[in-house]
Amino acid sequence: MIVYKFGGTSLADAERMRLAATLVRECAGPRVVVVSALAGVTDQLVELAARAGKGIGWEAEAARRTEALWVRHEEVAAGITGDAAGRAALMEKLDAAFSRLQGALEGVAEEGEAADRSGQVDRVIAIGEDLSGELMAVALVQEGLAAEVVDARSVVRTDERFGGAVPKDEETARLIREVLTPLLEQGRVPVLQGFVGATEDGITTTLGRGGSDFTAAIIGAALGATEVGIWTDVDGVLSAEPGHVSAARVLDELGYEEAVELAYFGAKVIHPAAAKHAAAGDVSLRVRNAQRPEAAGTLIRHDVRRAVGVAAVAYKPSVTLVKVRSRPMFMAYGFLARVFDVLARHRLPVDLVATSHTSTAFTLDRGEGLGAAEGELSEFAEVEVLPELATVSVVGHGLLRRPGITAGVFSALGQTPVQLISQASDVCLSFLVAQGDAAAVVRRLHAELIEAVSEDER
Ligand code: ASP
Ligand code: MG
Repeated sequence: MIVYKFGGTSLADAERMRLAATLVRECAGPRVVVVSALAGVTDQLVELAARAGKGIGWEAEAARRTEALWVRHEEVAAGITGDAAGRAALMEKLDAAFSRLQGALEGVAEEGEAADRSGQVDRVIAIGEDLSGELMAVALVQEGLAAEVVDARSVVRTDERFGGAVPKDEETARLIREVLTPLLEQGRVPVLQGFVGATEDGITTTLGRGGSDFTAAIIGAALGATEVGIWTDVDGVLSAEPGHVSAARVLDELGYEEAVELAYFGAKVIHPAAAKHAAAGDVSLRVRNAQRPEAAGTLIRHDVRRAVGVAAVAYKPSVTLVKVRSRPMFMAYGFLARVFDVLARHRLPVDLVATSHTSTAFTLDRGEGLGAAEGELSEFAEVEVLPELATVSVVGHGLLRRPGITAGVFSALGQTPVQLISQASDVCLSFLVAQGDAAAVVRRLHAELIEAVSEDER
């Protein structure tokens, strides 16, 4: 059993959608298809929702933008349907989705800022996947497959954290099996919207940007898939961003922990939650290029057998460093607990942490929402905030087991000032540098730890 997930770039126009459908046809045996919205559509829906949320006079601009979205989807529909009857049926479905979009936008306009929390915005942005799901099902039928849309809302059960909802594992797995297994047994090909779910009450939720990888991994794990194919527009996970490092190469294999660290620390190839879920469900993911299906891609799996060494170097900009120094009377135990309690209450996720006897330092993504937490921390500690830094991460396998790796990292850093160093495990060593230094540091690390190491040493 195989799950194929197609990202927006693999569905950007009719030609690519037909190509994606061919890939599904060529994969024999039971398969489930998960789709993202067409490339760029989610961004446009987010923008539409934001404009509607500002109220007054949003309608004219929304009408113009909605019309452009309609034309784009209509063009794809025209490029994938064979006969007039099939086309009419598809247009009816697209029409219904656009009516829902209009309704959802009006809802956002009415609610204003509250729309983020009520789920109205999720209703808007889920439409992108609703549309691509309908289109993809038709493209698959054209390939002779018995494809049908299964609304992800009927199987992906989530909590109510709109915009970043978390699926309820057991219930979702049960629903996936209940709904999809009979279809697969009949030789049907279910097509589901990635990124989309629903609460117990049937209110639409979304899983956070890039969340369709997550959907595919959940489905793959629930059905015991042999592999989840993540089809994208690059040959796989790369050893560095090719824009920064011209010698970056595609990795054949990657352990799931490495994939999670890489995803969090800058590589945009896969959603971190998908890699995490792959580990929990023991399902393998394969990142592949839909334009070059002959390339083997990168296999992400639980029991990676790769030799000890560095696999990739990544970097993440716009990181904020917070240094918290305890005042003498608070040197007692409980200081860290107090610091992290404040962060937890303000829902500030921490990426890196380092502590010494008198200080603790940690990083936050962008530092949004830090204001109130900073005030609370200042009640019992001295707080210093340094914005606009970059996290550079060296990711690999058994990093602590090969002492030369740390030496190599420090030698590549040379005279570059470092703000914080953190290594919690064998798979990732991260440190903070000024944003302007990051690209050069990544290049030197890649040269020293990857390019200079021969294939069999790795
Ligand atoms: N379409 C959604 C996004 O752009 C989900 C995804 O692509 O995975 O974030
Ligand atoms: Mg994606």
